[in-house]
Amino acid sequence: MIRVAIANQKGGVGKTTTAINLATALAATGWRVLLVDLDPQGNASTGLGIAQADRTASTYDVLIGEATLTDAAIATRVPRLDIVPATVDLSGAEIELVDYEQRTHRLERAFAEAEHRWDIVLIDCPPSLGLLTINAMVAARALLVPLQCEFFALEGLSQLLQTVERIRERFNPDLSILGVALTMFDRRNRLTDQVADDVRACLGSAVFKTVIPRNVRLSEAPSHGMPALIYDIRCAGSEAYMALARELIGRLPKPAEAA
Ligand code: ADP
Ligand code: MG
Repeated sequence: MIRVAIANQKGGVGKTTTAINLATALAATGWRVLLVDLDPQGNASTGLGIAQADRTASTYDVLIGEATLTDAAIATRVPRLDIVPATVDLSGAEIELVDYEQRTHRLERAFAEAEHRWDIVLIDCPPSLGLLTINAMVAARALLVPLQCEFFALEGLSQLLQTVERIRERFNPDLSILGVALTMFDRRNRLTDQVADDVRACLGSAVFKTVIPRNVRLSEAPSHGMPALIYDIRCAGSEAYMALARELIGRLPKPAEAA
């Protein structure tokens, strides 16, 4: 099982949209996929149509040791895609976990029981570098960083990379940056073009070739409780996420290395 954290401490850069649609694209290729919703806002859970009433066990319960991942995971409407949903309880976790032993390794430990249940796990992080995101980075083998094509895209990235470096040194030497995904690209806007060029100049091959366009279908789909890949499989956003999934598969550590 390969674990990928989707992180950027900025809000609104496309983490959740990427998590939902990549997870769906990967499930469509035949992989058994788990999405872990680690954001107290629960947007990934809502965007996959999981009603509050159905969130009987959540990531919060997993983190505090009240539920196993296997117990907390529920099937989505997408074949082979399960989710561990988030509830508002999770908003207290940053503070509550401080008192727990091994507070940075709660999620990592929860995976032990579920090692062979899924082929890949995507972790949708909250917009902060707090304890929840640290738990994701400790538990993950690789990091995917969505970056919005806007003027301040690179701002904050050095802080993110510093955090990754610290996690590597202290807890998880194997953590790698799988790639940076440019999101909300608008080819009619010369500024986003310029930003994309600057980011590539700065980060080089770390940036995925696939660029996610700004696409209204991607933003509409969650209100229908479904991934864009089901809502409108032919829209430009869906096609881009399928291409990103193919590129991501090519970059994943080989299973033997990942063991
Ligand atoms: P994050 O999880 O980083 O906060 P989201 O994925 O929730 O970001 O995206 C923020 C908002 O932008 C949401 O309303 C989402 O629907 C919208 N959005 C994300 N990606 C795109 C895109 N490529 N085109 C259009 N809207 C998008
Ligand atoms: Mg989000």
